[in-house]
Order: sequence, then C-alpha cells, then structure tokens
Amino acid sequence: MWTCKQCGETVEDQFDSCWKCQLPQGQTPPPGTPRRRRLTYKYFRSTTAGWSELFDEAAAFASEVGRDQVLNISHSCDDFDGVVTVWYWTTEIVPP
Ligand SMILES: [Zn+2]
Repeated sequence: MWTCKQCGETVEDQFDSCWKCQLPQGQTPPPGTPRRRRLTYKYFRSTTAGWSELFDEAAAFASEVGRDQVLNISHSCDDFDGVVTVWYWTTEIVPP
C-alpha cells in the first residue's frame, strides 16, 4: 500500500497511479493545484466480532490514515450490532 501525495488516498501496490485522482505513484502534485479538504469516514461494523476486534480494525485503519488526518473515532451499538466509525480528512482536487 502507498499513499497518494495529492489526495491522501491509500492505493494498493498493484496500481502505479492513484485510482482517485490519477496521480502517478511517487509524484508530488504540481504547485498551485487547487485543493480542498473534505471530511470523510470509514466504518467497521459487525454483529459477530467483539468490540476489541472492531476497535483493532479501526485503530489499524486510523494509523494508516495518519494522525494529522484523523478527526475522531466514534462508536455506537444497537443490540449486538456494533459500529466503529473513523472520521478523517482527505484532500481532493477542486475540479476546474
Ligand atoms: Zn490521489
């Protein structure tokens, strides 16, 4: 896995450019590219895994995202259905 220097997306190793913004791996975006920060999230949900497994998954993901990008991590449950949500910032290119 590598992290796109333009949009911060994590990309599988078999791709040599970012699936989201098409920036080739290892390249830095040209200066002056208009960008904006956007809040997004990923959630981990399970009816079978215990809380510690869900939190482990969320923690691993949050570590990958990086401390500067993670806004917070929230969780909630409904009977035995647990959800852990990682909120984090991404950077996207402003369309022309
Ligand atoms: Zn990208």
